[in-house]
Amino acid sequence: MALDIDVLTLFPEMFAGPLSHSIIGRARNQGIVQISLWNIRDFTLDKHRIVDDTPYGGGPGMVMKPDVLARALDFIRLDNSGPVIYLTPQGQTLAQSAASKLAAKSQLILLCGHYEGIDERFRALYVDIEMSIGDYVLTGGELPAMVLIDTVARLLTGVLGAEDSATEDSFSNGLLEHPHYTRPRVFREMEVPSVLLSGHHGQIQRWRLKESLRRTLERRPDLLDSQPLSKDVHELLEDVKQEDCKERTKGGLVEQ
Ligand code: SAM
Repeated sequence: MALDIDVLTLFPEMFAGPLSHSIIGRARNQGIVQISLWNIRDFTLDKHRIVDDTPYGGGPGMVMKPDVLARALDFIRLDNSGPVIYLTPQGQTLAQSAASKLAAKSQLILLCGHYEGIDERFRALYVDIEMSIGDYVLTGGELPAMVLIDTVARLLTGVLGAEDSATEDSFSNGLLEHPHYTRPRVFREMEVPSVLLSGHHGQIQRWRLKESLRRTLERRPDLLDSQPLSKDVHELLEDVKQEDCKERTKGGLVEQ
């Protein structure tokens, strides 16, 4: 199923590079994802094409005008009935689970803010979802919109080849992915783990799951707490904890 994304922005030219190359560029050429860029300024009615104004109550910065945004959105809505997603640092943080839900839709509308952001009345009347890409503030919503598009588009059927499937990626099964190795077999005296050369599919899968658990335990233990683990996986995790404990004792890292 194809996904239509309409993007409302003051800087449509910013999108050309990131969305024209590699996997996303190919997905667009194949029609799996269709991205239409709309310049908000084109929906102004005055000769100076003003899109923002000073905030009521005073203070720094400019606020994007609700009447211009509403005109733009009403026009886009003629062809797109998808949810309106406003990129904002105040929204829910984009996560793989949210990206999967968006990838199941057929239409999306993304709104990129600038300056101090958008008039609150427009937000209240028109915005369905507020999405952040992290707890920091960028100058505009264009980069966040591109992050969202990339994250969602690569989950669409046919975008990644089988050899590049997203199903084993970090977060897709609630864990960080296992480490990867490629040729040469020895690099600066470091060998590829022998199990990966064994050709034994079952053992390779088990090793990968174990290393995935080890990595998650080291870097994102919160992910392990937030999901039920099957008995097998739980046992594997206990093995990892014991191995890591032995390793630290060997290295003299455990205080007596
Ligand atoms: N005054 C706003 C605040 O404190 O919440 C920040 C405005 S920011 C300078 C301008 C625009 O950049 C926002 O309207 C939003 O579209 C975008 N933006 C900035 N940081 C973002 C983030 N972490 N995630 C998503 N969008 C962001």
